[in-house]
Amino acid sequence: MRLIFLGPPGVGKGTQAQRLSAQQSIPKISTGDILREAVLKKTPLGVQAKSFMDSGKLVPDEVVIGIIRARLKETDSKEGFILDGFPRTVPQAQALTSMLRQDQRSIDRVLNFELSNDELVRRLSGRRSCPNCQAVYHLEYSPSQKPELCDRCGGKLIQRSDDQPETIRKRLEVYRSQTLPLIRFYEEQGVLVRIDGSGPPETVYQRVTAALG
Ligand code: ADP
Ligand code: AMP
Repeated sequence: MRLIFLGPPGVGKGTQAQRLSAQQSIPKISTGDILREAVLKKTPLGVQAKSFMDSGKLVPDEVVIGIIRARLKETDSKEGFILDGFPRTVPQAQALTSMLRQDQRSIDRVLNFELSNDELVRRLSGRRSCPNCQAVYHLEYSPSQKPELCDRCGGKLIQRSDDQPETIRKRLEVYRSQTLPLIRFYEEQGVLVRIDGSGPPETVYQRVTAALG
């Protein structure tokens, strides 16, 4: 199963991809996670990406395309994968199509998650993340058992630097202008499925498995 999880920041793509990845034993490949790790380690990629990420802008296409090209060559992706947060522009989607085609592969389905703007802002504002193991929590909707500590690895939870009100606004704007056209792109290829992202994670997960069933 080769899947793309599409949708605005905060809609719950990572949360759902995490569950499905564990259940299906296929990797969740998140360009956001890969970039954040690079920023944390101050690698050349991280140094290059940081200012774009902090201001809510997209990292240049050639950079993220290079990340995905390398990642999809790893053996764990041969049985399938879930792309979370990639592609985000039409050129990225075109590059993905052609790199998969070289290996006689293609995308099976694109799940497009939908949610109201108010709820997106609520989810992003309350998000807390573990920089150590990438687990994601929400202050109200899915709090960790001990305040500020990761249930999974005990790491100290942080609020992502791009989950501040001004950057949230910018990211939603960038989504609308640069990523929204991908809905049409994949609709025309007949692989797009719309998923209502509202309600608790369990409910959304049922919709995800129903869409794949
Ligand atoms: P994305 O990967 O699309 O940016 P996340 O999966 O990181 O979104 O979710 C954003 C925030 O919303 C996180 O704090 C997460 O815990 C919370 N969240 C995810 N799904 C739901 C849901 N169905 N109901 C309530 N909160 C959710
Ligand atoms: P995310 O974790 O998916 O919300 O991504 C966080 C940030 O990483 C984005 O706001 C971008 O700056 C950058 N990023 C992640 N994925 C991409 C992508 N496919 N194209 C460009 N920038 C990306």
